[in-house]
Amino acid sequence: MNCITVESVYKSFGEGTTEVNDVLKDINFHLAEGEFVAIVGYSGSGKSTFMALLAGLLLPDTGKIVYKGQPVVEPSPKRVLVFQNYSLLPWLNVYQNIELAVAEVFPDRSKSEVHEQVEKYIKMVNLYPARHKKPNELSGGMRQRVSLARALSMEPDLLLLDEPLSALDALTRSNLQQEIINIWEKQKRSVVMITNDVDEAILMADRIIPLSCGPRATLGPGYVNNLDRRRRISNLSKNPTYQSLRRNIVDYLIDTKKSNTTVLEKTLVLPEVEPEDISVRTSFTLFGKHPQRKSEERKISVK
Ligand code: ADP
Ligand code: MG
Repeated sequence: MNCITVESVYKSFGEGTTEVNDVLKDINFHLAEGEFVAIVGYSGSGKSTFMALLAGLLLPDTGKIVYKGQPVVEPSPKRVLVFQNYSLLPWLNVYQNIELAVAEVFPDRSKSEVHEQVEKYIKMVNLYPARHKKPNELSGGMRQRVSLARALSMEPDLLLLDEPLSALDALTRSNLQQEIINIWEKQKRSVVMITNDVDEAILMADRIIPLSCGPRATLGPGYVNNLDRRRRISNLSKNPTYQSLRRNIVDYLIDTKKSNTTVLEKTLVLPEVEPEDISVRTSFTLFGKHPQRKSEERKISVK
């Protein structure tokens, strides 16, 4: 069964102004329950816009988005978006940031149930020793773990990860990739993750869909990833299935970039004016009555 489907969605910004930005066109997408799909694409092509549409933070201009049989018209804790920039409340510590979300989503739970839920997810992302720290006392990787724990603690059906690892150093990124995979394998949530890294997409996702270069970006074909789930980046590079998958996705992205680069041919219409020779000084007026003697005039003035 599909968790979410997107049919013929079109989204632009700036409607009614002189600068309409057609960001996404003809977007068709489906995600099966429990599936992990990665969307890869160029910066500025509309990936975050797509995620905001799935989350219900934005509405399409045309087309429809259906989540478990219901049209998506507003945000819901069942579809939680994790942003690239962590978006934690700076005056609350790790525990409180997560507690706030849990209390909001599960108002009927007792204090001790909320406490249990918060601790469960803090432990899941290995942050228990840092639970009393504020966001500014944490590294980027730790903040992203808090964002992830906060999102998971709301027990969403659909987890939307918008470039969650892009701002991290390579080592932290690789650790968190593995943590997200482990959590996903345990919890079997449906996941859509945006990334600009094709290798990350192949490591983590069941299906990888390139988003073409904008404006009017659209989703390309879905590349099914049949590589064994025990895959690791270190032992993928020589695997022929990985190589061809990677090549196909990269080639698709390069081709869309080429076909979206329009060559601008413009004819410049120049005004019919003759350039004035500024080397001719006021002496010109001495011979003003005899325009046919211009060349002579110049000679005179230059001397
Ligand atoms: P990506 O996440 O792929 O980098 P975005 O979805 O953030 O791209 O942006 C795609 C395009 O839409 C960009 O040209 C951006 O300027 C524009 N855009 C995004 N959000 C808004 C908004 N709220 N208002 C106006 N334009 C926006
Ligand atoms: Mg973005």
